[in-house]
Amino acid sequence: MSEEPVDPTELGERDAPPVAEKPYKVIFEANGCIGAGKCAEVSDNWTLDLATGIASPKAYFFDEEDLEHNVRAAAVCPAKKDRGVIHVIDRATGEELAPDPEGDGTVSVDW
Ligand code: SF4
Repeated sequence: MSEEPVDPTELGERDAPPVAEKPYKVIFEANGCIGAGKCAEVSDNWTLDLATGIASPKAYFFDEEDLEHNVRAAAVCPAKKDRGVIHVIDRATGEELAPDPEGDGTVSVDW
């Protein structure tokens, strides 16, 4: 068993569709979701489960067509003092497209 820290950009890649087909993915920090439901208001990919009070994405991997509304969901998420718990990642470069609080593509997932 490896004790190496998890590289967030590698997350979920083992059973993932090819990058050429679905160039983007979301990393969702479900444990930081405060159930505000903003994501579901702006993106069809997100639903808020009223039983658990936690949101979930329908798809973790998507293409250009679904990029904009997922970026919007990441941008409006108020969790973690507005840093957000939805992260949209460019799988080819490993960069965070949104919310990207550092402004340099650094993945802002807290483990
Ligand atoms: S906007 Fe963020 S905090 Fe609110 S339900 Fe969606 S993921 Fe959770």
